[in-house]
Amino acid sequence: MQDLGRQYLTLESELDQVWKDVASKGSFIGGENVAGFESEFAAYVGAKFCVGVGNGTDALEIALTALSLPPKSEVIVPANSFFATAEAVTNAGHQVVFADVDEDYLMDMEDVAKKITRRTRAIVPVHLYGRPVDILGLREVIGRQKIAIVEDCAQAHGSEINGGNVGSLGDVAAFSFYPGKTLGAFGDAGAVVTNDESIAKQSRLVANHGRVEKYTHIAVGRNSRLDALQAGILRVKLRHLDSWVVRRNGVAEKYRGLLGGVAGVILPRGFDNGMHSYHLFVIRVPRRDKVMRAMLDSGIEVGLHYPEPIHLAAPYRARLGKNVAPRATQYSKEILSLPMNDSMNHAEVETVADALKSALLVSSS
Ligand SMILES: *Cc1c(COP(=O)(O)O)cnc(C)c1O
Repeated sequence: MQDLGRQYLTLESELDQVWKDVASKGSFIGGENVAGFESEFAAYVGAKFCVGVGNGTDALEIALTALSLPPKSEVIVPANSFFATAEAVTNAGHQVVFADVDEDYLMDMEDVAKKITRRTRAIVPVHLYGRPVDILGLREVIGRQKIAIVEDCAQAHGSEINGGNVGSLGDVAAFSFYPGKTLGAFGDAGAVVTNDESIAKQSRLVANHGRVEKYTHIAVGRNSRLDALQAGILRVKLRHLDSWVVRRNGVAEKYRGLLGGVAGVILPRGFDNGMHSYHLFVIRVPRRDKVMRAMLDSGIEVGLHYPEPIHLAAPYRARLGKNVAPRATQYSKEILSLPMNDSMNHAEVETVADALKSALLVSSS
């Protein structure tokens, strides 16, 4: 939920210069924008390596592949996330195991502990809605077992916990720069980020046809590129990311002020162990479908993240049954994502809050 048109207008001349430069040089693939963005983004995240790839789903799959886990390893993912989190595990040749979520809609550590088996080789914490997962806590759960942490940072550009940026805390991390993300390109784009040189090398190999030189292929990889145009756009936007995260926090505070006492509304809990980047502002409400309908009817762009937990989606439901993540299932019927972006002003936040209050009244009559 971004107002991309408005964001573009604030950076119009800088962004236009990017495509003019790329087009006039005729350098559409690779080159200085891609290398430049990779080093700038690694520095931003506080990790040693960044490998630009085609999109966030590829980033997850490439990161998992680069770990060279035994085929059909068990990989734990939260039941409430975008479908791609699980899809990447399946496409990398592994077995998805779903963990339930906690009160903050994030992977529940107690359930993760229960779901670890001898075959578990990786866990994918998702910093959902921009709220960081407690990676130190996850490390404690893992203890001395050989289980990799693959952070899904697709919704968490600019989020921090325990003094570190998300993406620098696990073994490897995947970012998406889909246009609607907090840091978004003008099309699909993604990145693998890591402090581990061999994982970085392996990721680049997988993303680039398994080749080490133009026609020397040492593995079967794929083609997943961050193109020069997207990299150039991202370089411009990266310089504004921190200020956008601050603005999103301002919108969140305003929502809290306006909705704090409203009966039935459950606000996201505050976060005081770093930076919540508020990619989304997700509340729970009674009679959610009616409330949502009423808000959409009054022109407020609310959304659902997500209407169905992944374990209930057709490809997984048959194998796993319904009861693997009861809290995620329950929350999926109550959650509602309010409009949230870096260009919302106070009057707009008030309009949303008023619309929610009247939707709650209408829905109960
Ligand atoms: C958007 C998203 C992805 C996938 O990113 P794409 O760039 O759309 O492929 C993966 N995980 C989460 C949590 C996402 O929100």
